[in-house]
Amino acid sequence: MSFRSRLTLFFLLIVIVPMLSVAVVLFRLIADNERGKADARVAQAQTAAINLYGREVERAGVAAGRVGRDEELARALRADDRVAAARRARELLRRQRIRRISVVRDGRTLVDVGARTATASAVREIVGRNRRPVGRLRVSSITAAEFTRLAHQVTGLEVAVQRDERTLATSLLGVPDRPLPRVGTIDVDGREYRAAAFEARGFGNQELRVAVLYDTEEISSEISSGRILALVILAIFLVLAFAFATVVSRSLQAQIGRFLEGARRLGGGDFSTPVPTQGGDEFAALGEEFNHMAAELETRLEELRQERARLQHSIRRIGETFASNLDRDALLQIVVNTIVDAISAGAGRAVARDRPGAPLEQRAVAGNVREYGGAIRAVEAKAMETGEPAATADGDVHALAHPLRPDDGAVQGLISIARAGAPFSPDARDLFHYLAAQASVSMENVDLHELVQRQAVTDELTGLFNHRRFQEVVDAEVERARRFEQPVGLIMLDIDDFKNVNDTYGHQQGDVVLREVASVLRANSREIDEPARYGGEELALALPQTDLEGTYLLAERVRTAIEELDIPRVDRRGTIRVTASFGVAALPESADGKDTLIAAADAALYQAKRAGKNRTERASRAPTKAAPAK
Ligand code: GH3
Ligand code: MG
Ligand code: MG
Repeated sequence: MSFRSRLTLFFLLIVIVPMLSVAVVLFRLIADNERGKADARVAQAQTAAINLYGREVERAGVAAGRVGRDEELARALRADDRVAAARRARELLRRQRIRRISVVRDGRTLVDVGARTATASAVREIVGRNRRPVGRLRVSSITAAEFTRLAHQVTGLEVAVQRDERTLATSLLGVPDRPLPRVGTIDVDGREYRAAAFEARGFGNQELRVAVLYDTEEISSEISSGRILALVILAIFLVLAFAFATVVSRSLQAQIGRFLEGARRLGGGDFSTPVPTQGGDEFAALGEEFNHMAAELETRLEELRQERARLQHSIRRIGETFASNLDRDALLQIVVNTIVDAISAGAGRAVARDRPGAPLEQRAVAGNVREYGGAIRAVEAKAMETGEPAATADGDVHALAHPLRPDDGAVQGLISIARAGAPFSPDARDLFHYLAAQASVSMENVDLHELVQRQAVTDELTGLFNHRRFQEVVDAEVERARRFEQPVGLIMLDIDDFKNVNDTYGHQQGDVVLREVASVLRANSREIDEPARYGGEELALALPQTDLEGTYLLAERVRTAIEELDIPRVDRRGTIRVTASFGVAALPESADGKDTLIAAADAALYQAKRAGKNRTERASRAPTKAAPAK
């Protein structure tokens, strides 16, 4: 059922049906009222007619007095002259506008003249001189027809006088010869009349019935006009109600139409145009709620959009991870960024060691770590202590840490996050530990990769760096020395008469000698020094932050150690000894670059060989680059 039909039904129910009921009641009330009014009118007319009749009786009484005093009539009666009495009575009738006169004595009518229909009579005893009764005089001064006319004039209603159930006189033609009701309705020639009758004494002791009749046609017309008025008022009310209902229905439909339109717009993804809300009614509230919902939806959509952007960002980051998965720091940075983003942490960082035993250093940061410094340090300390994932809470600052631990068990680093406000949910914790564990695996992969790389740059026989790596190392050291303006020393050594060892004891022995010499070199190197096999039985050692003199001293120490080295013979027949010659050079004293540095050290080594072997020669001053002019 449509909204419109519902409204129509509602309108019918609350307006039309009650209106119809009201109309029925009103019509009945109007009819009752008019009938009541008619009855009152009839009763009033009846009273008036009764009074009128009484007055006529009084008038008859006055006339009877006059007639009774008439000497001539009295004389005729006393003389018992009925003819003379009748003549005199007729005369009196004429002169005094009397309608009937009768005199009765001892049950005998002496005189009776005038209209038979005379009514409203009065009686008087006529007495003679000696107080002897002469007769009973009855006088009437009005006929039934006259009374009827008079009453009709006075009351304005129809009047009928009946005697012995016969109509004697009436102002209305067609009144039937049937007793008129005391109060009731009669039919006269097909017309209905309200009637009210009263009993009256006619002439003599005649029983009269006098009725006033009220034409109900008049009542009907009164009722009709009353009903028409009521109908007009109801119709006006109906029209007003209909107009009002139409206006309300239109405005409701318009409002609902606007909501519908708004909903369609929302469905189409347009949140910009709000549903108009006017006034303070429920529709306005609904509209506001609707707009609120739209705003809420827009926010959610925006969040979704951001979420999607974040997802895309994450996917891109995963791509970056593929590309950078062999770069420890880049990897840690990506992991920390991802974790902070994914878990909505305030800040996070990764710390790791350069190599086992080295102190933990910050490698990657996301967010304002300083703000959560205390919490992060605390959770890191806890994770370090236990070697297990840790969580701390200080007030409303919550922190999580996860150790980066390769298979060997030692904690190589930590990833930690912190935030203020809500604690991390179990899901967030799981995600954090998962990502950190993945980072740990990745770090291990990097370690493995580095091992392979190391193997690629290591000489198999001696375990020292190979020639290629040596070149890289010297390159890097020279670069760093230049950047930080630090010296870098280079030792090159060549085993003396090595060919003899090979020739005398075989290549295998030569290999042993090489390994032993290499280990001496390694043993005398610092952590930061980088011993390498330059080629054949020629070894080299780059010494960061070491000047020429320091390089020389170290070379001498190594040379002496080699000299003193007892190398077991492979045929287990005692030991052999070897010596080596050393050439040392240093940046910036001996050279200005990698190639010149190597060349300088090599030249110094050649020098040492020529000078008799088992000795160390310093390179001469920078051979290619002149000292800057002062
Ligand atoms: P000098 O004192 O002038 O250096 O004399 P030397 O005999 O050492 O001279 P040279 O450089 O000519 O000899 C190097 C020899 O080292 C040649 C080669 O057979 C040997 N050699 C190079 N690499 C190896 C190696 O890996 N193992 C062994 N056993 N011998 C090697
Ligand atoms: Mg050689
Ligand atoms: Mg040699």
